[in-house]
This record gives sequence, C-alpha cells and structure tokens, in this order.
Amino acid sequence: MSQEIFATTWEKILQNIKDNIGSSLYRVWFSNLTPKSFHQGILKIEVPSKFVKDWLEKKFNALILKSIKEFIPEVKNIEFVVSSKPSNLTTYKKSSLKKITLTTTEKTLTIFETNPQTNLNPRYRFDNFVVGQSNELAFAACQAIVQSFGKTHNPLFIYGPVGVGKTHLLQATGNEFLRQNKNVKVKYATTEEFTNEFINALKNHTIEHFRNKFRDIDVLILDDVHFLSGKNSSQEELFHTFNCLYNLSKQIVFSSDRPPRVIPDIEERLKSRFEGGLVIDIQPPDYETRLAILKVKSQEKNIFLDDKIYDLIARKITDNIRELEGALNAVIFHYSKKEKFSLEKVEEIIKKFSKDYYRKISPKKIIKIIAEHYELKEDDIFKKTRTKHLVEIRQFLIYLLREISQLSYTSIGEILKKDHTTIIYAYEKVVKKMKNNSEFQQEIEILKSKILQS
Ligand code: ADP
Ligand code: MG
Repeated sequence: MSQEIFATTWEKILQNIKDNIGSSLYRVWFSNLTPKSFHQGILKIEVPSKFVKDWLEKKFNALILKSIKEFIPEVKNIEFVVSSKPSNLTTYKKSSLKKITLTTTEKTLTIFETNPQTNLNPRYRFDNFVVGQSNELAFAACQAIVQSFGKTHNPLFIYGPVGVGKTHLLQATGNEFLRQNKNVKVKYATTEEFTNEFINALKNHTIEHFRNKFRDIDVLILDDVHFLSGKNSSQEELFHTFNCLYNLSKQIVFSSDRPPRVIPDIEERLKSRFEGGLVIDIQPPDYETRLAILKVKSQEKNIFLDDKIYDLIARKITDNIRELEGALNAVIFHYSKKEKFSLEKVEEIIKKFSKDYYRKISPKKIIKIIAEHYELKEDDIFKKTRTKHLVEIRQFLIYLLREISQLSYTSIGEILKKDHTTIIYAYEKVVKKMKNNSEFQQEIEILKSKILQS
C-alpha cells in the first residue's frame, strides 16, 4: 500500500475507533498513534509511552484490531511499540519528577462566562465530558433528548451523589440544544435560584414576570431539585411550571442527589411528575474514567504531567470528580511554583483530598485544634454550659467529626456524652445553617483547613 493510501485508511480506522468510544476517551488514548511497519501480518503501531501502551493493550486491543481488519484484512495482529523519541510527557527519574511541558496558560486559557439569558456556561460541553461506565447511560439520555426534543424522555431526571458530573451534563445538554439551533430558548437554573427568584417575585409583586421567564421557553433545566424539600410554595409553583411546559411538549430536565421517591418532604404529585419520564443515575467514576478525566482536564490547561502522577491521583481520589480536579490543580500549582518534587510529595499534596486520609485524622486531633482555635481548654467544650458561643462550637465539632473522621452518630454521641438522636439533630441543623449562612460556612471551612493542614 502506498504511503498516501495508507494515510487515508489510517484516518478511517481512527475515525471508526472514535465513533466507538467517543471523542474524549479517544483524545486521551489515541491522539498520538502512528503505524510504523507491517511485516508478516503484524502491524506495529508506535505509541508515546509505556503507560499508553499498557492501556491500549489491556482495554482496547480487540477494538483496535477489529477496526484495522475492517479496512486492511491482511493484518492478523498488532503490536504496540513505545516511541524512542522524547515525548512531551515527563520522564520519570528515580524519585524526582521533572516537568517538560508546562506552558503558562495565559495564552491559551479561555475565560468562559455564563450567558445571563440562558444561565449556561459554555465551559460545560459534551465533548469535554468523559464517558465511562458510571455515566454512559445518563450521557446517552442527554444526547437523546437533544435529538428528540421533548418527544421522548420527558422529563429526564438524573440523580447521583455530589461531584459526579450532574451539573456538567445538564449544562452541556443545554449548550448542545443551542449549538444545534441557536433559536431554541433554553433556561438553566439551580433549584435554589428558582426558589429565591420565586420568593422575590412574590415579595415584589413581579410574579407575572417570573412566570414568563420560566414558562416562555423551550427547554427548562433545573439542577438539584432536592433543594425543594420542605419548601411547599416553591413546590407548588414548580408543579404548575412543569405542567405548563409539559403540555406544550417542551423539554424538561432535572437533577437531584437522590431518586424522586426518596427526596424527603416533597409533594406526591410532584414526585410522580419527576418519575413520569426517564430516571437515570450517575455513579462515582471508575478508575479508568478518573484517569481519563485527569488527562482531559490537564490537556485543557495545556499541562502534561508524568503518567505516574495521574495514576496516583486516580487511585487515591475515588468518589468525587470535584475533589479529583482539586487534587490535580493542587499538584499543578506546585509545579508552577517550580518546586522539585517526588511521587512522595505528590502523595502528600493529594492526601488532603482523599477520604482515606480524612479517616486517619483522629477525633482527638479535631477537638484539640478546635479548642486551640477558640482559645479554650479542651474540657470547656464538653462543659454543660449552653452559651450561644459554646453551643455553636459543639456544632462545629459534631459536623467535623462526621465529615472528616467519618464517625457514626453513635460514636460522636459517645464522645460528647449525648444520645445519637441529639447528634443527628445537631448535625442536620449545621448542614442547614451552612446553606443559609455564609459566615457560618466560612468558619467551618477555616476550621476544616486548619485540621487538614495540621
Ligand atoms: P455535580 O453537579 O454532580 O455535583 P459537577 O457537574 O459540578 O458535579 O462536577 C464537578 C466537576 O467535575 C466539574 O468541574 C465538572 O466539569 C467535572 N466533571 C464531572 N464529571 C465529569 C466528566 N465525566 N468528565 C469531565 N469532567 C467532569
Ligand atoms: Mg451540581
């Protein structure tokens, strides 16, 4: 086969693979493959690093071979060879990692601004959403509704724990509607925004305006509807908004941290509306997806770290993609300070983002740091006095014992010599207070970072 013909065939093979696995996984694993030689039925393909080689062999060997055979039936087998050229990835030397590519992002960084009309941020797209087992159904459902537009899967209800990509996916869906047709009227809002605007509209007698805003649209995307729990009048308003849009075959998308059935304090009729279309969950990402996410995120910043670093972060941070990004950013930040560091150092940096690490912080230490922070003796915290100040400090303590040390309510009860129901009550009170009181929230953040950095 001549060089040129081969080049076009190779393009087709790659396209075929891309169609199979989606563009983000493709970008991560397939962007630097070059066919090198063909001899006795074996096609040798050059790959940029051993890490990529291992992954391709383990995960994509069958797919690659099948795609190649479709276009070049003479190929019986494939072999990956690691490029001897220095790659733009970093080389790993003993325990010190050196960076090769760290372009400052100033030139390439795009500032994404939220569109005030739609409330959508263009940074969230389908093509930078990494698809893996944990989210592929949700991803497919979102793509499907853009195609069918209110005719199937209405409403689409996506639920999953915090940090698994619900907002990203919802926003990307809105952006995709607009990309396909810029005249579509899309509106994204968090349920908190919806509720606040509704309450303000009631107060300011602008309910008409509010209703037009949420009803004169083609696509309504409402994020975090569990926020409606216990908010009766907002629930009623949403119920009517829903009916109005639904009857006009407008597309509606919801997200929540749990399935409709188990959101507490929500009217039955609204629950059944939530369940009336398609309900799909997103799970925390598996290792492969986490790794791909890290690569996509640093690629977006034009930063390439050693593969061992990505591997380490992906193994340590398992549940929450926001934390995964946080850890990555912390590592990148250390790079940009041009600190020399080793894998041990990386481990130390990301430790603070991992749940296992949290568990290792003892209750004793948390108590000690809180006491120091408020210049109290440790015993003072446990005194029966109920001054407002002490009550609040005990609330901080309960919250942090649960969040950081992940103690059960019963164990926290034992520490504070209180019944576990009292602890549950206090904990939930803190969660609520954190939502409504930014000073309170800030205070907790300060304590938390003191504890994590101690
Ligand atoms: P949630 O709304 O479920 O709490 P987010 O959508 O806010 O989670 O996701 C947290 C962060 O992780 C965001 O910056 C988002 O872009 C990123 N993220 C989540 N899932 C993915 C994914 N599959 N691919 C790429 N980035 C993701
Ligand atoms: Mg969200």
